[in-house]
Amino acid sequence: MGDLANINWSELGFSYMKTDKRYISYWKDGKWDDGQLVEDNKLSISEASTALHYGQECFEGLKAYRTKEGSIQLFRPDENAKRMQKSCKRLLMPEFPVDRFVNACKEVVKANEKYVPPYGTGATLYLRPFLIGVGDTVGVKPAPEYIFCIFCMPVGPYFKGGMAPVNFITTDYDRAAPSGTGKAKVGGNYAGSLLPHAEAVKKGFADCIYLDPRTHSKIEEVGAANFFGITKDNKFITPISDSILPSITKYSLLYVAKEYLGMEAEERDVCIDKLDEFTEAGACGTAAVISPIGGIEHQSKLHIFYSETEVGPVTKKLYDTLMGIQLGDVNPPEGWIVKVK
Ligand SMILES: *Cc1c(COP(=O)(O)O)cnc(C)c1O
Repeated sequence: MGDLANINWSELGFSYMKTDKRYISYWKDGKWDDGQLVEDNKLSISEASTALHYGQECFEGLKAYRTKEGSIQLFRPDENAKRMQKSCKRLLMPEFPVDRFVNACKEVVKANEKYVPPYGTGATLYLRPFLIGVGDTVGVKPAPEYIFCIFCMPVGPYFKGGMAPVNFITTDYDRAAPSGTGKAKVGGNYAGSLLPHAEAVKKGFADCIYLDPRTHSKIEEVGAANFFGITKDNKFITPISDSILPSITKYSLLYVAKEYLGMEAEERDVCIDKLDEFTEAGACGTAAVISPIGGIEHQSKLHIFYSETEVGPVTKKLYDTLMGIQLGDVNPPEGWIVKVK
């Protein structure tokens, strides 16, 4: 397995840790350079960079997993690469090629192998690719130069004491505009989400639920995760909208529900006034895979799904199956797993 860093894996949270190497590539004069691994974790950029003033920035998040046999693998990194290309298009930034993105992820993981947590600890290696506009441009226009970077850090199990439901509350704020940047993974969507998040936490909730920005009648996102519900007749339902960030975990769960669990699965509107149709609900994303939703408070009424303390059986099965695929314990669909070593 090679040497491991001296870290108490199960005590890790989600906080920055400087690991040994990161990948960096510069775009200048119309093209990306060859890219390289570097030790320095500081970027030196112009004070007039568009990323600093106008949010010309996008990012990704994915994980590397150690299997029972000790090998290391990535989960659908090509999907992150493609999504980042879409984000770049929306912000007029140069796209980083998909194959180079996947190879750079592999390189970063290999160069930081000792930080890939052992199988069975619940901890994983989190990769953060990002792309920023830099250079001397104080005007509102695309930057003359760009930096693409991937760093990584080990992160702990999302649920320390085992999977447990949490409650959410709807917010009157919007995360994204109807035809804005909601479906792009851009930093600009996040600054405005800090206040609604803080207000939800102050009221005792895990995070807020954003409703559709046009009518405020349908569920869009659960904090920075996608929503799904299980209906009484065992269907996997997840909202459809142009301002939702297309979660790779969500699309993977849609597939797992259909092809592994034999359920019907569809994307359609989810009305905040019709939560009764669901027996279970959850939030999904790379960080936790699934956070079971105990209840949702809307207009001062708390709607409970399965239970505020116990995880529903379908949610548990979805979680175990997808987690199993990511960790190499369950046979993956073709192309979902990319071996690092
Ligand atoms: C990244 C992100 C998600 C989750 O996407 P995954 O690909 O599943 O990690 C959901 N919502 C928002 C707003 C996000 O930024």
